Amino acid sequence: MTTANTTAAARRGGAGQAGAVHADVVIVGGGVPSLVLAAGLARAAPDLDVMVLERAPRTARNRQGVLVHPATQVVLRRAGMTAFPDDDAPGPVEYLEEFRHRRRIGRFGTRRHTTGGEVHTPYNVGLAAVADALFPAVAATPNTTVHYGVELSEAVHRDEEWDLLTTGPAGPQRVRTRLLVAADGRDSPLREVADFGATRRSFPGRVDVVAVPVRRQGPPAISMVVGDRDATTIVDNGVGPHPLLFDMQPDGTAPDPTAVRLRPQARHRAETVGLGLPDDVEPLLTTSLRSSTVRCGTWFRDDLLLLGDAAHAMHNLGGQGFNLAVQNAAALVGPVHALLRTGSPAEIQDFQRYRLPYITALQERQDEFFGALAAGEPPADGWLDPLHESLTAGQPGLDRYVEPLRELIRDA
Ligand SMILES: Cc1cc2nc3c(=O)[nH]c(=O)nc-3n(C[C@H](O)[C@H](O)[C@H](O)COP(=O)(O)OP(=O)(O)OC[C@H]3O[C@@H](n4cnc5c(N)ncnc54)[C@H](O)[C@@H]3O)c2cc1C
Repeated sequence: MTTANTTAAARRGGAGQAGAVHADVVIVGGGVPSLVLAAGLARAAPDLDVMVLERAPRTARNRQGVLVHPATQVVLRRAGMTAFPDDDAPGPVEYLEEFRHRRRIGRFGTRRHTTGGEVHTPYNVGLAAVADALFPAVAATPNTTVHYGVELSEAVHRDEEWDLLTTGPAGPQRVRTRLLVAADGRDSPLREVADFGATRRSFPGRVDVVAVPVRRQGPPAISMVVGDRDATTIVDNGVGPHPLLFDMQPDGTAPDPTAVRLRPQARHRAETVGLGLPDDVEPLLTTSLRSSTVRCGTWFRDDLLLLGDAAHAMHNLGGQGFNLAVQNAAALVGPVHALLRTGSPAEIQDFQRYRLPYITALQERQDEFFGALAAGEPPADGWLDPLHESLTAGQPGLDRYVEPLRELIRDA
């Protein structure tokens, strides 16, 4: 077992009664949303012991990139994220645009600024780079322990407490906690333990991803080109020679990473948005994904709180899942603290009443769009027009829960 910080466990005397250690909160899954919640809670309540369990080693690098919205940038900065080193420099995305075949149906500038005059442009950056830039702020809170290489293998809820069994290089360990947070991803086994009744809707086919070694002219942008029965998104974020083509094929076939090719449709669409590809272009990398939404009617029951993809997985192509998760993590610091202080989930329920319908509506919009595309009837207003506000400005009223967002001007 590797621990980023062992102070809290030591303060508790390590393995206590019946060999169990105690933490006030255990967060399962060490993604960025978990780190934001852990650091926020630890700072808000220095008397709380906050434990994070992540089964991957600290040295594992998640190579996936994410589009980080202006609101999320504000949240991450306030959570203590430092500047990125040059090697991890993010690529700003100046506008979002959408085409129906060759006709542009929408173009949206993405910049937002704060009352203090800062400019925030959405940027693409690696998840590992964000975690690295945030980690020092987490490690600086003496009441947080982050255990890498440790997996939760058993969870039992009894007498208003969770009894956990973890496994790691140092062997099995029992952990008891008042509050368990499931931030263990889209397939969250923990979500099933408390029977949240989640429903999943899958993209009706596959999404092939191709990275090409050619840049396009003009400012970095994300462009979606919709055909009658398929669509391609071209992500050119200005970082390195690696624009990505997400070729969405809602044709009922399963993803197959070994059979990805640059289809003529994708090539023509890239050309439509100013990215001409030579006939003999050699992709830098290819993969094939299945994307899905996961919806839950509640995010909290039986002293178990769902966070991130475990609570509300979004389609990977929508540029939302990470942002909603990080924003929720910051917003939940106060409500979780109140729950631990008073035993009342009222503040968590209040936040859920505000946030869950908004996120469910985004998921519905995503599912409906892909369903309509599969049926050969893409909606006339497309994808971005109804969704771009949430990609740039976020949900109105979130500043009630995340105070620094008051600085962000919505209609810049
Ligand atoms: C190709 C792709 C592109 C995307 N692009 C964007 C984008 O542009 N913008 C955006 O907002 N979102 C994007 N997303 C979605 C985004 O990556 C996710 O929404 C976000 O990373 C979810 O974070 P999470 O912490 O909830 O879950 P995860 O990142 O899945 O983390 C869960 C963690 O839990 C750990 N874990 C699981 N079970 C256990 C256990 N039993 N014990 C210990 N640890 C455990 C796992 O190892 C993992 O590290 C994209 C996703 C994909 C696949």
